[in-house]
Amino acid sequence: MVKFMAKDECLFCEFTKGGRKLWSVYENKYVFAFLDINPAGKLRGHTLVLPKKHFETIDECDDAYLKELILAIKRLIPAIRAVSGAEGINVLQNNGKAAGQLVKHVHFHIIPRMHKDGIRFDENRRQPKPMELAETAESIREELKNQK
Ligand code: AMP
Ligand code: ZN
Repeated sequence: MVKFMAKDECLFCEFTKGGRKLWSVYENKYVFAFLDINPAGKLRGHTLVLPKKHFETIDECDDAYLKELILAIKRLIPAIRAVSGAEGINVLQNNGKAAGQLVKHVHFHIIPRMHKDGIRFDENRRQPKPMELAETAESIREELKNQK
């Protein structure tokens, strides 16, 4: 039976509470990982890893949860590599609709890759002038200094 969600309900919060059909692969007190229902490419194992507490984007995510997320990703990668036979792995994370975030609950994609598998994240790359790169790097370093 299809369950319709209220406007402010979060799909991934629903998932962490259980009761929905999922292909879960790992969980602990902080994180939950399951197979993406629409995997990129032909390999098996495209996995989503998310915190059990709701945060919308990575910069809003509590540090303790972030640490657990990265450790879970580290643990999952060899397992996904073994199962998929992948030659490479992408860890992808979208923040905001403009960046392709469909579900507003922070999550990481672990995507198994092969040479020439047709998946592209690197289209339309610019070649900025060194001056632009220098200014941008300097601006980000300044922003970081201003953070508490
Ligand atoms: P993003 O575009 O980064 O927000 O990624 C959201 C991901 O959630 C997409 O790759 C979807 O395929 C995946 N997704 C949506 N609904 C489900 C579901 N019911 N089970 C597993 N994955 C899902
Ligand atoms: Zn949520």
